Amino acid sequence: MNLRYSLEDEAFRSGIRAWLEKEVPAHGAPPPADDWPARRAYDTAWQRKLHDAGLAGIAWPAEFGGRGLPVSQQLVYLEEYARANAPYVGVNFVGLMHAGPTLIAEGSDAQRAFHLPRILSGESVWCQGFSEPQAGSDLASLRTRAERRGGEYVVSGQKIWSTRAHVADWCELLVRTDADAPKHKGISWLILDMHQPGVTVRPMRTLDGESHFCEVFLDEARVPVENRVGAENDGWRVANVTLRFERGTAFAQHIITLRSQLRRLAALAKSRGVELRVELGRLHASIEALWRMTQMCVAEAERTGIPSPLGSAVKLRYSELSQELAGLAMRVAGREALGAADRELVREYLWSFQMTIAAGTSQIQRNLIAQRILGMPKSR
Ligand SMILES: Cc1cc2nc3c(=O)[nH]c(=O)nc-3n(C[C@H](O)[C@H](O)[C@H](O)COP(=O)(O)OP(=O)(O)OC[C@H]3O[C@@H](n4cnc5c(N)ncnc54)[C@H](O)[C@@H]3O)c2cc1C
Repeated sequence: MNLRYSLEDEAFRSGIRAWLEKEVPAHGAPPPADDWPARRAYDTAWQRKLHDAGLAGIAWPAEFGGRGLPVSQQLVYLEEYARANAPYVGVNFVGLMHAGPTLIAEGSDAQRAFHLPRILSGESVWCQGFSEPQAGSDLASLRTRAERRGGEYVVSGQKIWSTRAHVADWCELLVRTDADAPKHKGISWLILDMHQPGVTVRPMRTLDGESHFCEVFLDEARVPVENRVGAENDGWRVANVTLRFERGTAFAQHIITLRSQLRRLAALAKSRGVELRVELGRLHASIEALWRMTQMCVAEAERTGIPSPLGSAVKLRYSELSQELAGLAMRVAGREALGAADRELVREYLWSFQMTIAAGTSQIQRNLIAQRILGMPKSR
């Protein structure tokens, strides 16, 4: 791939930069972290602005309402987005980054026609219902069951760690539709309407004092059969498409923000008179190398429609680098970091722990890299 930007790309950059410079300050500061209705309103209103400006779904094909930008301009867009410190994708993460792309790759025409425009415009918010109390890394052992009765599935069970489920309208849900089949063969991928009597969502408070995650209890919740994505019992394959998007391209926006995190660390070190030149140089090189890997991943996804297993390497490296950066910032800030002035540093530090677990732990990514990239045999 060509890593140089063309004159056309640079012209695109100027346009995006001008738009962001005007719109980002106008959108105002985000609401308090634990005011979830306000966060939903803030994030979806921003998504609506992007949509109206023709900037929603920059990587989605134009036939599905996206901008269908060439890879180079997707990357320019991400760079400018981070530079402008534009609002985090927030509650729109699942819909835009992996549910929508899964529907594009695997959904029916009716599913695409209904859901994709709503995701792009910020009208509907999605969450992910994959993990269960006994099925995290070993996701295929999930037990939430769906029994087919006439034209619908009746779903009962429990999901856990469902990020932002308390403000979601729809859920990408994995269920067991054949209890007798081998575990990978009896799973289906359903679109669950969260606004119905059989769905109870209970937020969970985490170490950082916030409530991003939820438990989701399903008690005879209903899903019309036409809301199944892919064939019945073929959900494991579809789930892997979702996970490839989640690990491969979904974090690109996070990765590019490491650059500004590093700049903040450099400023902090300078202000405290801490000598960090060697660490900063090494981290700078690592971040730029990771950005190149991300570019490869985005380019590959553009070519084939679905990100490759390289995404596991990108996700692994990103989560480790982000922990290293946040840890170093805490060391530089020292005890004072616990004071009000540096609260953001503490938040970033605590948040960085989650990244080596979300979307599959680092150990699982290493297993995937060994098996799917290096071609090594499965361990017993
Ligand atoms: C920020 C965040 C957001 C999340 N959002 C969602 C969401 O929206 N929806 C959702 O469904 N889930 C979500 N999750 C859940 C996440 O996918 C799981 O936490 C993750 O897959 C690990 O599962 P577990 O917590 O059950 O840990 P376990 O699977 O119990 O793992 C415990 C430890 O054992 C190790 N381990 C397990 N199996 C192996 C193995 N085969 N080889 C080597 N080591 C192994 C793991 O690496 C880990 O260190 C989220 C998690 C986080 C942290």
